[in-house]
Amino acid sequence: METRFEERFRQYLDSGFPILYIKSYEENKIDEMVRQVSGNRELVEWNEARGFVDFLHKKPLVKRGSSLEETLDYLDMNKEIDRKIFVIKDAASYMSNPVIIAKLKQLALDIVQELDGTIIIVAPLLQIPHEIEKFVTIFSPDDLNTEEIKSVVTQFLTEQGLSKITDNLMEEMANAFKGLCQYEINNILALAIANHGELSKRDLQYIFEQKQQMIMKSGILEMVPVSESIDSIGGLENLKAWLKKKTKVLQNIKSAQAFGVDIPKGVLIAGMPGCGKSLTAKAAANQFDIPLLRLDMGKLMGKYVGESEENMRRAIALAEAVSPCVLWIDEMEKAFAGIGDGQNGSEVTTRLFGTFLTWMQDKKTMAFVIATANNINKLPPELLRKGRFDEIFYVALPNSLERRKIFELHIAKRRKMDVNNINLSELVDKTKGYSGADIEGVIKESIESAFVAGADKLTTEHILSVIENTSCLSELMGEELKSMEETYEDHNFKKASR
Ligand code: ATP
Repeated sequence: METRFEERFRQYLDSGFPILYIKSYEENKIDEMVRQVSGNRELVEWNEARGFVDFLHKKPLVKRGSSLEETLDYLDMNKEIDRKIFVIKDAASYMSNPVIIAKLKQLALDIVQELDGTIIIVAPLLQIPHEIEKFVTIFSPDDLNTEEIKSVVTQFLTEQGLSKITDNLMEEMANAFKGLCQYEINNILALAIANHGELSKRDLQYIFEQKQQMIMKSGILEMVPVSESIDSIGGLENLKAWLKKKTKVLQNIKSAQAFGVDIPKGVLIAGMPGCGKSLTAKAAANQFDIPLLRLDMGKLMGKYVGESEENMRRAIALAEAVSPCVLWIDEMEKAFAGIGDGQNGSEVTTRLFGTFLTWMQDKKTMAFVIATANNINKLPPELLRKGRFDEIFYVALPNSLERRKIFELHIAKRRKMDVNNINLSELVDKTKGYSGADIEGVIKESIESAFVAGADKLTTEHILSVIENTSCLSELMGEELKSMEETYEDHNFKKASR
């Protein structure tokens, strides 16, 4: 029986769409599917290793090693593409080659206008040059839903002559396997069976390791090691109390849901630079005891049509695959700036933003988002509406109590024995307008100069003399900070500090 994907693919093939782009790692499976749906049309293929070959036996057709360019010329000449299905593999490096793109476009035009042919591109990543965008239809068969994953596991067990697993374990496996393709699932199952002859709960560990591999390979997400605890944040008491509440929910999600609690979506932490936003993201992951994945917005932006959205979807799928996790979107305004201003690139950003919003809105997994931003004026207003994030916090410059705590923390981190001899009140008085990062900088420099001067301990005077020669954040950014502060007041965001 045909799967839903095969049925849809056959419809597109029969309706004369010129280029069908199948995004998949599983060439063998795709070969089999193409063979089945091809009807009586002739199948030919180009791949980097063997050149132009017949699809079924991979035997050279013209001469050994004919290039992609020569093959496209051949198919264009004398209308050779007519009544043929032409499968292209290994095309990634050619998708920025203007000659290849032009020839592909010409072939696609011929098909649209008069010929009964189809070009099928099979590739693991989506790379569609603008010039041929309108001729291309995308298929993404590797994304399996829960039911499909369960049937892959069941099929594997049957083929291996193994008995069924409990419904509970099947449910856990199906969740853990989310985001992996059939090939990867089968590999992990084979590994588990080879190791202890049956499937059990401990195999979930293999799945997790495999997913870590995927994250590293993706290049879009980075797993950030976290050592910072919530106690290494000076001040921000409201924010910390809120995170502690969420910890209780996240760590007891089953009973929380049974009680009627919603799955936490995430938090936007906006505010002054250097005041502990990134520090909070790390401490939160540590507190929740789940991995921290940092999304690099710069790496998300691609040069091909749809590539940025595809990267966003992939990042989301990866985060969901390793959930529970914290997905940290650093400097969010950089990614979503320019929406609706009609400037270059804003169209891509708007679509990217749409993908993100829809996901946030419908999110049912435990990928807890922590977005951090300096300048919320650059963020689209939709993002700030209630319901997107569970809460939006505003981090201001530390007040005097907070500065005291931050001084204490950073001195204790490096010279615990000196803390009690330092006049913290005097330091606090002299550092109005300092950010947490400024204070950390002052302490580092004071300790270094005390050492260079040959002192045997750190004193209040060492620190005061560094403060005298320091330009703090509010001196450097005076006006800008003031207008930021006004914006935050206007929005009525929750204050991170008490
Ligand atoms: P940016 O917007 O510039 O990225 P940020 O708000 O994310 O800034 P962090 O990276 O968290 O700032 O802070 C920089 C460093 O300053 C931290 O690693 C930490 O050492 C120190 N720091 C800032 N705020 C605090 C705080 N409230 N308590 C303790 N240390 C702090």
